[in-house]
Amino acid sequence: MKSAPPVPRRRSLNGKQAILTLLIAGLLSLVAGSIELARDAATMRDEVQSRTDHLLALIDGTAAEAAFQLNPDLARQVADGLFVGDRVAQVSLRDDFGRTMASRQRIGDDSANWLVTLLFDDILHYRRTLVYEPGQGAPTTQVGEIELTLALDSLGRDFMNRSLLVFSLSVVKALAIAALMVVAFHAFITRPLLRVHAAIIDTDPRRPGAWPKPRLGHHADDELGHLVVGLDRLLRAFQNGLDQRDQLHQISTLDGLTGIANRRRFDEFLPDAWQRARRSRQPLSLIFIDIDNFKQFNDHYGHVIGDDTLRAVASALSNTVTRATDLVARYGGEEFVCVLADTDREGARAVAGRLRDAILELAIPHAGSPHAERVTASFGIASAHPGKEDDVGFEALLERADSQLYRAKHQGRDQIVWEP
Ligand code: GH3
Ligand code: MG
Ligand code: MG
Repeated sequence: MKSAPPVPRRRSLNGKQAILTLLIAGLLSLVAGSIELARDAATMRDEVQSRTDHLLALIDGTAAEAAFQLNPDLARQVADGLFVGDRVAQVSLRDDFGRTMASRQRIGDDSANWLVTLLFDDILHYRRTLVYEPGQGAPTTQVGEIELTLALDSLGRDFMNRSLLVFSLSVVKALAIAALMVVAFHAFITRPLLRVHAAIIDTDPRRPGAWPKPRLGHHADDELGHLVVGLDRLLRAFQNGLDQRDQLHQISTLDGLTGIANRRRFDEFLPDAWQRARRSRQPLSLIFIDIDNFKQFNDHYGHVIGDDTLRAVASALSNTVTRATDLVARYGGEEFVCVLADTDREGARAVAGRLRDAILELAIPHAGSPHAERVTASFGIASAHPGKEDDVGFEALLERADSQLYRAKHQGRDQIVWEP
């Protein structure tokens, strides 16, 4: 027998769908996060610039005052005011002659990664000319300048913290959308598909028409519903084909004249019965039955009455042997054969007795017979224990039953003969 192909490892549709959705969501969150990051960097640049401008505008008056008065204490106060926190790397306030009045410089690491440098390096330096306004319509005079440099590392830290938040938020959003998609996809497509799959798996290949057709509710009018309807039609057509094949097979195993099993059926049945008997170690018996002097019967009554008689004998035989495991078949012409499962020689003799009685009870006149007034038959019995004795096969059993029939004929007909 050909060995079945290996069953491929089953992968879950749900699992595949979830992995695919997560991959897409991850990719989307990467793209969306990058776009958000670019937008955020632009916003942050604007914020830093306007905040610094605002700060410088706030101290502008006081710084100009300090430069005008050449007051180093006030200049220091201005520089200290600007230097609060870690955002500023360097501040210096100069008078109109370029002399430094106050200067602060943060000592520390001002390095940052390439991205931060790329994004903020051009907005770090601010220089403002200090203009003194005496008021009351007097002309304004330039009194000095203030220079301020922002700390790149502090900006970088701010930017990285914000980026992390923006990125995390976009990943969380994408994951939430992916999870929703997985659930929705499962509910609307995967689950009904799995139900169709389960129904196909549960279908008995011998009875495809009786498949457990799934009800898909609101999918009845979409492609899934059409798939089930199409499958249903296909399986019903398949079932019709099987039914027709079975009918044809049954017709081909029935005898056209008598309606009982024919020789073909017997030829199929006997090897199977032999195998079953061998497995169960039970006896098996065979009875050959041949109507006596039937040639004379035909000659006397004609073939039409002869056919009627064959039908009557066949139905008497099949009405007597009713066990599902037994078989009565027309072997050919006016010969019949009976296979008796789980039956030894004694049992077969008893059955043959009943068969003989059944034919006699028909009481069909046989005026042309040299030995009886009614239609009679001769019986040859052979029995075997396929699982126990020398197993010579069912062909030998057939020959043995036939030779017992031959003996019955020779011994005068209308009798049952079995092996000694
Ligand atoms: P025996 O007692 O030795 O069996 O003699 P017999 O005449 O019955 O045996 P034989 O083999 O000489 O003849 C069998 C006859 O059965 C020949 C044939 O006319 C008849 N027969 C075979 N098939 C049919 C059938 O389908 N219809 C009819 N009417 N007769 C058939
Ligand atoms: Mg005969
Ligand atoms: Mg014969």
